[in-house]
Amino acid sequence: MSHSEDAGSEFGDVIQGSCYCGGVSYAVTGDPVLSAFCHCTNCQRLTGCPFVHTIHYDWPEFAWTHPEPYISRLNSYSIPSKPWKIRYRCTKCGCTVASHNSRTNHWSVWGAQLERDESGKILNWEKVKPTAHIFYETRMLDVNDTLGKWEGYEDKSERIVLQ
Ligand SMILES: [Zn+2]
Ligand SMILES: [Zn+2]
Repeated sequence: MSHSEDAGSEFGDVIQGSCYCGGVSYAVTGDPVLSAFCHCTNCQRLTGCPFVHTIHYDWPEFAWTHPEPYISRLNSYSIPSKPWKIRYRCTKCGCTVASHNSRTNHWSVWGAQLERDESGKILNWEKVKPTAHIFYETRMLDVNDTLGKWEGYEDKSERIVLQ
């Protein structure tokens, strides 16, 4: 696949993402099954950031797009507490780019790695924008926006009501 304009006109709503060096890339399409700012301690430790914008897709909606064989530019790992979640990273820059959950058969990507327009805004933002703050109890900072704050996943845990 060449660039967003071509991809956009040909496939409609394909959204592309890539690692820091650009050696590894992927495309996602359709509507996410989840899009949220995640404040869990796993995300914090993994990224070194207070929270991440995580976006989950059903497995057929995700595809690697860098040159084949895809695995030659990737390595993968899991952690003992979550053996069902395989994370993939670029062998060159070390950047984690996507993970696959074999329990849900969902792929997860990060909003910050998605393709931007000239002004730095993420393309197709309306489709991928977060709908909630999840695992908000372990937050490193308060966020004063209008999105719901949840103890765990949106609509599957207690909603946190702040005074
Ligand atoms: Zn890379
Ligand atoms: Zn998380």
